[in-house]
Amino acid sequence: MSPSTPALLPVLIAGAGPVGLFEALLLTQLGIPVRIIDRELAISPYSRALGLHCRTMEILQFTGIIDSFLDKGKPMTNVSYYRNSRLVGSLPVIQAPEQSRFSTGMFLEQAKTSEILLTKLKELGVEVEYGWELLDTKVVDGRDGEEEYVETAIRRALVGGQVVKGGEDKDYETQVVRSKYLVACDGGRSTVRHKINIAFPGRSLAQKILMWDGHFRIGVEDSDLTPGEDFDKTLRDLTIEHFQSVVNATASPAKFKVTSTAWLTCFKLNERRADHFVHKNRIFLAGDAAHIHSPSGGQGMNTGLQDAHNLAWKLGYVLNGLAKPEVLLPTYEERGAMADRAIRVSSQIMARNRAQGVLADVKMYLLDVKYEKNIVNRSHETQPEPAAEHKVGIRAKDGILLPFYSTTTTTSSSSATLSANTKDKKDPQPTLRLHSLFTGVARFHILVFTSDQLTIDAKEISTLLDRHVTQWRSKWPYGSTLQDGYADKDLFKVHVIASPPSSASSAASNTALLEMSRREVGKGKVYIDSDGRSHKEYGFAATKGQGGITVVRPDSHIGFRVHGVQEQSWKDVDAYFSSILVIQTEQTF
Ligand SMILES: Cc1cc2nc3c(=O)[nH]c(=O)nc-3n(C[C@H](O)[C@H](O)[C@H](O)COP(=O)(O)OP(=O)(O)OC[C@H]3O[C@@H](n4cnc5c(N)ncnc54)[C@H](O)[C@@H]3O)c2cc1C
Repeated sequence: MSPSTPALLPVLIAGAGPVGLFEALLLTQLGIPVRIIDRELAISPYSRALGLHCRTMEILQFTGIIDSFLDKGKPMTNVSYYRNSRLVGSLPVIQAPEQSRFSTGMFLEQAKTSEILLTKLKELGVEVEYGWELLDTKVVDGRDGEEEYVETAIRRALVGGQVVKGGEDKDYETQVVRSKYLVACDGGRSTVRHKINIAFPGRSLAQKILMWDGHFRIGVEDSDLTPGEDFDKTLRDLTIEHFQSVVNATASPAKFKVTSTAWLTCFKLNERRADHFVHKNRIFLAGDAAHIHSPSGGQGMNTGLQDAHNLAWKLGYVLNGLAKPEVLLPTYEERGAMADRAIRVSSQIMARNRAQGVLADVKMYLLDVKYEKNIVNRSHETQPEPAAEHKVGIRAKDGILLPFYSTTTTTSSSSATLSANTKDKKDPQPTLRLHSLFTGVARFHILVFTSDQLTIDAKEISTLLDRHVTQWRSKWPYGSTLQDGYADKDLFKVHVIASPPSSASSAASNTALLEMSRREVGKGKVYIDSDGRSHKEYGFAATKGQGGITVVRPDSHIGFRVHGVQEQSWKDVDAYFSSILVIQTEQTF
């Protein structure tokens, strides 16, 4: 870039629905300057997405903002489906507490979700630029060795110098924004998607759905559909009385009496997903801009927020000079499989075939998220493929761990007795969740499952761990502007998960264990997997096993796993990181 050329904006975000707001928040947490525009003048007031799935709540926890949502939401306990006046399925949306801190999803209207995200963004000093509409965009080749960039035309309507909604008889202020990247979060009718000619194949269904939100939500199919009817007029003329009559015909035993409404709407169903989510490695589609489907199963916004999370750390790494764009950014296409699945599940629910079976699928869907293999989800080259539930790409599972503690106060190696057995204790040690270790927006977490190896080899394991992690820290220092709310700047956090030690531990092992138990969180601190469940969930034997290392990506999916905790396994982990990360060059903004 010549000295006279103004620096490019790192990221422009088009659309400040929940997905755009979350993307802006995550990138800002990572120290990336963003602009976020929306053609409306404020957040949409409608309830639309009524809830947050457990998986979305996990993500909000990892990114440090869950408390505001917990304050405002209500636990989601039940969803019922009726057909021809008969209850055909009822879904208790609660799952086993050991699977996730969030045993149930949460009811919280989309407007409130957006409001929380907007407030958090403002706290970090970023204002949404309301009233700005994206008109056109394209990727421009860099000339004379300059890098390519995205050129976007935007405008806002003014009357008497005041920003107003667009339309006829307005003056417009226009701007051309040049940015390194553009994230299109501009909804189902995405202007960006049209302008860059990304196809949006799928189908439009004939069904007309009425949806009422009050103290709870009722969605009902209105079979009284006139061919060729003016849908916008139908929407304008929709009354509570008409809605009541359709409800009576569909779910009469439930005896709903509709007297008022927070939101009454009518919509037709579309099931579509963009051919590509990544355009020339510069423009990315997220949320409804990338996929739309029926609200059944409540997946639209949830899937979109998960898109934003997947993309943010990758952009963060690239813009901070920690990863090559051509290596990391194309992997955002992995979200396509999740979009396909959201469409498939919502379609099955709408079709009401095998209702009970479908509902079971939905229950699984809440946490069962997984990606296909690619450069960030890498199988081990020589070790056999694990069972499906342990493969790379899956969501890193939660579990219950115990802190390691010494039953004596002495630090002497020979007399220190380490234990995690709380059975015979009056004051059992507090447990902790494995997921509580996953702090930070853009960190890799390395889980070292030692099986019962620590009993014999604690010293060797801790020496290996320290040597490799020290090397990595100097090779890939945390980008100085990657600020995710944590004081230290570690790119890697290492957690050791051990089976309970046996009385056969050697004095040397005991000393090493004691030292590891006193470490700071993420620096090789050791925890106890008392019933072996976490080892099992991650595919390693809890006893008489060789253990193994699992690398958890910043968005808490499994990136790599290797059996064994000896030198070669650490080298394999090093090779995984080396294929993704570059020796830090410089920030590119
Ligand atoms: C009736 C109904 C019920 C639903 N229920 C659920 C549910 O229970 N659970 C669930 O997860 N999802 C649900 N959804 C889906 C959910 O509302 C969407 O998936 C969600 O809003 C997608 O968020 P988004 O940020 O991608 O897009 P949007 O919320 O559509 O936001 C897009 C933003 O981009 C702006 N924009 C558009 N074009 C431009 C432009 N050219 N320039 C600048 N700005 C632009 C718009 O003004 C808007 O603010 C429901 C949807 C409907 C309609």
